[in-house]
Amino acid sequence: MSDLYAVFGNPIAHSKSPAIHAAFAVASGQDLIYEARLAPVDGFKRAISDFVAAGGKGANVTVPFKEDAFRLATRLSERAARAGAVNTLAFNGTEVFGDNTDGAGLVRDITHNLGFALAGKRILLLGAGGASRGVIAPLLAENPSSLFIANRSADKAIALAVSFADIAAVDAGNFAKTAGYCFDLVVNATSASLSGESLPLPAGIFAPDSLAYDMMYGKGETPFLALAREQGAGQRADGLGMLVEQAAEAFFVWRGVRPATAQVLADLRAKLLA
Ligand code: NDP
Repeated sequence: MSDLYAVFGNPIAHSKSPAIHAAFAVASGQDLIYEARLAPVDGFKRAISDFVAAGGKGANVTVPFKEDAFRLATRLSERAARAGAVNTLAFNGTEVFGDNTDGAGLVRDITHNLGFALAGKRILLLGAGGASRGVIAPLLAENPSSLFIANRSADKAIALAVSFADIAAVDAGNFAKTAGYCFDLVVNATSASLSGESLPLPAGIFAPDSLAYDMMYGKGETPFLALAREQGAGQRADGLGMLVEQAAEAFFVWRGVRPATAQVLADLRAKLLA
């Protein structure tokens, strides 16, 4: 019988994870089934225990359950403990292993797929929610020259900077506080693009050969990437590559096999644009 995996979220119908993992399984010759499962907002724990009872071997977790998954895990990877959120669960007997592959996915997309080295770079991270928290340690592990976290509510950005101060000194504040600085990489980890909103970013923050990266993805240019283009960012990318790479990292956690991602990403991009 094929091993069973699933992604849990609410909503979940439009998740691309089943298609991504099905493609990984075919390409790497792994025998598995991967489904999308809707869990009630207050019923994540029950949904997972039913899934494990039915033979589930592992799960991805998306909005709004990443913190529930963090609390459910009986063992955490270091990166999940740092993130305070779990997007990948692996079930082994009574153990529930929790991991977070979002940061690894972002770094892999930027450094490998986009060929943008992070060492020595000045990084601006916009947003202080779950996605932002998950990528800070993996970004710092690449040895950038500096990291600035800017958020609509400055206090949340400052709290994040404090909680990572043992790794590196991190600047933080609201968007206006970035005035006068210039960055090589600007990552949008806010959900502003979801509602079509533009961020009030000061002029001059994008270095001419900078990379503007929006974790959000879609058919057209996001408001953040439009602003980055107008302000002269040399390279611009959306978060579809991050989505595929965090999935590949989860596949590796479960199966011990690292699937090739280039074709899966190209197919997904073509489908998105169709
Ligand atoms: P959260 O809800 O945890 O955080 C949202 C963040 O966005 C907060 O910092 C919030 O600021 C900010 N924000 C929301 N609306 C606005 C606005 N109108 N103007 C300015 N700031 C705003 O969300 P997540 O961190 O989980 O997700 C953030 C984004 O990242 C989403 O778009 C999500 O889809 C994307 N994502 C993509 C992934 C991928 O694989 N490509 C993986 C994970 C996430 P405040 O604190 O002031 O409220």
